[in-house]
Formats: sequence, structure tokens, C-alpha cells
Amino acid sequence: MKFYVVEEDRTAGFTGNLTVRFPWGFPGVTACETCGAAGGWAGLQYPCVDLSEFPERTALENPGRQVSFEEFRRLRDLVSPFAPPGARLEPGADFGPPTGTGTGTFGDFFLQNPWSLYIRREALERLQGEGLRGLSGCPVNVKFRGKSPPYLLAMQLKFQGRLRGEHVSAQENAPCPKCGSSRHTMPQLPSFDVRTMSDAPDLFRLSDWPTLIMASQRMVTVVRQLAMTGVRFVEPTT
Ligand SMILES: [Zn+2]
Repeated sequence: MKFYVVEEDRTAGFTGNLTVRFPWGFPGVTACETCGAAGGWAGLQYPCVDLSEFPERTALENPGRQVSFEEFRRLRDLVSPFAPPGARLEPGADFGPPTGTGTGTFGDFFLQNPWSLYIRREALERLQGEGLRGLSGCPVNVKFRGKSPPYLLAMQLKFQGRLRGEHVSAQENAPCPKCGSSRHTMPQLPSFDVRTMSDAPDLFRLSDWPTLIMASQRMVTVVRQLAMTGVRFVEPTT
């Protein structure tokens, strides 16, 4: 099984644009005393997690701020019951329906940025009807200008797969005993350890690098057969 990186395809001439943000998000953390890691991740997105009933949600409404690791851990433990099993609840994770405004025309897929993938509801249903696994999304909270606005879903993807061993030293692979973070250097041309993807869903984020969205060969084949628009699939080096 081959895997591909999902990228925006600008050649189809769609003009769509979203100006949106997640209603809730974990703050970043101040530098860890043990390993020095600070800030938060991009790409940990949970649009289907509704925190409108979360008692301390105001602590999640200014995700740009930084808190101590202890305060982050406290918030994480409180949010955990609202999140799906196995969710990566780490600094910088975002929750809830992307909210804001939209303009222009949209293909079947839309990438707001390389790590934020949207899909039209009817496209998702067609792909699921073809038996593709791991595709899920939730409605956005977007006011569209113009006629016939699209019914867009923000995708909530699972995590799978590692970078190839030579890009990840044993030291980097070992999570920090205090904060659990592990850091990798992104190679110029990413390559992946396909052995870590044997039971991957058809669309997922790379565990080692959550801003990278990847598709299986099966997904690429179906999307091309159905002539779906908005993204292209780039074969990484292996
Ligand atoms: Zn640490």
C-alpha cells in the first residue's frame, strides 16, 4: 500500500476562502524545565468535540496564551471526558466547529491551510459509500456570502504513522518524562516508515508531524475515479 501527502490543488480555479477559527483551544505551555519544549502543536484538530457545556471553557477561549505544564495538565484532565478515545490532547489542540465567514466557490475538498482540511458533505458521503475508512467531519459554523453556499464539514482525522528511522534519533523518540513531548526534525523531503501504516485509515494525520495529512492509495484511486476536486496527492519519497 502506498501513501500520499494531501495538498491544495489550485489548478481547478476555485476561489473559496474561509476566515475561521476554532471556538476553543488548549493554550501553549511555557518552557518545560526538563526538556525545554514550549508552545503547542498545530494540526491537532477536533471539530466534532463540543465544549459548549464545559464549565471552564473560558480558559480555552484565548488559545494564544501560555500556561505552566501543571495548569495545562489540569485543563487536559478536565477536557478528556469530552474528547474521543485516543485523542491527542496536547498543547495547542483545537476544538469545536470552525467559526467565521466564507466567500467564493469551493471544490469537493478545501484546504484552509496545509493542515486544515474541509470536505463537502455530499463528497464525504460518496467516499464513505465507496467503503473508504476513517473519514469523518462535522459541520462548520460559517456565514457564507453569495448564492448556493456549500455544506462544508471540517474533517476530524485520526493519527497514524511515523517518519523513517533516520529522521528520528532514539533520543528524540523517547518522550520527555515530565511533559511527554518528543521532538523530530522534519526532513526536507519527508519519508515515512510504511510499516507503521499497515492498518492506517484511508485519510489520516502523520503521528510524528500532525500538520501532514496523508491519504492511502485506495483513497487516491477513488477520488480520481470520481473526479473530485480541490486537492492533489503527492507521492513522498520512500
Ligand atoms: Zn518536557
